[in-house]
Amino acid sequence: MTELFAGITTEGETRFIGEVARGAACGCFCPSCNSPLVAKHGEVNEWHFGHLAMQERPECEVGAHNLLRRLGVQFLHDLPQLDLPPYRHVLTRQGRFG
Ligand SMILES: [Zn+2]
Repeated sequence: MTELFAGITTEGETRFIGEVARGAACGCFCPSCNSPLVAKHGEVNEWHFGHLAMQERPECEVGAHNLLRRLGVQFLHDLPQLDLPPYRHVLTRQGRFG
């Protein structure tokens, strides 16, 4: 399960859970359903956002996955150069006689 790790401000900017004030003062909205969020900065669970009225929805979890994917793609896109480790893969093909 992917918790809501980021919310959207009224200006449309993405804010991560560690960047905002605790509780409803975070001023963020759900990237999927646009409901107001609360920032949960607890000491037991990993910090995450929850919906203000506790109306968690499966589609919002999917939205969190999509946001994570989009941020990952954006991060890779913004790299000046992508250095990958050497990769070698040997292909073999079985001929007609084995
Ligand atoms: Zn939502």
